[in-house]
Amino acid sequence: MLKVLPIPALRDNYIWVIHDDHAAAVVDPGEAGPIVAWLADRGMALSAILITHHHGDHVAGVATLVARHGCPVYGPGNEDIVEVSRPVGDGDWVELAAPPARLRVISVPGHTRGHLAYYGQGHLFCGDTLFSCGCGRVFEGTANQMYSSLMRLAALSEDTRVCCAHEYTLANLAFAREVDPSNRELQAWAEEALRLRRAGLPTLPVSLGRELRVNPFLRCHAPELRIAAERWSGGSLQHPSQVFATLREMKNRT
Ligand SMILES: [Zn+2]
Repeated sequence: MLKVLPIPALRDNYIWVIHDDHAAAVVDPGEAGPIVAWLADRGMALSAILITHHHGDHVAGVATLVARHGCPVYGPGNEDIVEVSRPVGDGDWVELAAPPARLRVISVPGHTRGHLAYYGQGHLFCGDTLFSCGCGRVFEGTANQMYSSLMRLAALSEDTRVCCAHEYTLANLAFAREVDPSNRELQAWAEEALRLRRAGLPTLPVSLGRELRVNPFLRCHAPELRIAAERWSGGSLQHPSQVFATLREMKNRT
């Protein structure tokens, strides 16, 4: 039976671990220490590392883990990550023998040029592209590209467990409630997320189905989000991608 869990790292990162109680794979190890300790406590081997993009808080632990475990490193072939030994791109599959897992690679440019997501076994490892009630900043791509990437993720099965790389949920919820104040499911999620954080628990993973109903960046087609964005920009916004670009700009300034 495959298990997936977040290991907190750095200030607010999660390193996701996929394991079967014998072997483990990790996604985006921004530091090695928490993973080394976690594996040692359980006497488990590390069989693979998956990388979504090149930012330091996602890759800084890779070299140490590879030196200790000699495992392959899957990651974008078009970003400058020296530790990547198995470059992958859109449509490729990552096949792991132990733990037994098969993950499809989805190209989601926007946050960075070569950002990847990994999808399989009911889980989506989406790095800094999609967060609960939020999305990553657009650093290297365009707003249009980021919106297209988010729409690709939005089309996956609604029962997908979304495994984001940061615990940003409460801050994102504050913004989401400002732009979508009459969304009752959003209010309910805000209360639940606050309860989880007060108990010291992660708010992740979240279900994609709920994100489709509460995340403003996945609801750019909804009239209430368009109206909120138009009120801020002072002009009419015809296309959901324009609503997205405006909401992203609003969020950048909060
Ligand atoms: Zn990043």
